Amino acid sequence: MKDWQESLKTADAKKLNTICCFCSCGCGMTASVKEGKLIGLEGDPNHPINQGALCSKGAAAAELHRSPDRIAQPLYRKGYSNSWEAVTWDFALSFIAKKIYQTREKYWESQEILSNGQTIAVKRMDAVAFFGSAVCTNEETYLEKKLALLLGTSYIEHQARL
Ligand code: SF4
Repeated sequence: MKDWQESLKTADAKKLNTICCFCSCGCGMTASVKEGKLIGLEGDPNHPINQGALCSKGAAAAELHRSPDRIAQPLYRKGYSNSWEAVTWDFALSFIAKKIYQTREKYWESQEILSNGQTIAVKRMDAVAFFGSAVCTNEETYLEKKLALLLGTSYIEHQARL
């Protein structure tokens, strides 16, 4: 480490790789974390897409994390209610899982009868769609695709195509 680097406030911070959350370019970032706090967020010079550069939105992304308006826990709005209430991740994930399960049970199609009367196996459920993001890593996208196919839907879309 050079002398000038040692004097930086990020010198002894833990460095973590992440991806800009704004657009489909998916620029790489290096987050500097010290004592559990984000103290720096810069372009990753080793990332093949942006090679260290960030546009003005990406350069200001740390402010999203620091904003007092940032929503940091799931919110739930009951039917007929006009307000949101904070809920736990356990509640939110269980709720979503139950809804997906109920939807799959209701709309599962094991076979289809063609116009010529022939019956073919289809084993699908098209009532749930998945929406991916450029922010997702390859590993996350792999799991998303796997879950979608497991549920039987072929409706998988990506933000960059909209
Ligand atoms: S830094 Fe700018 S160009 Fe790169 S992903 Fe973020 S918003 Fe998009």
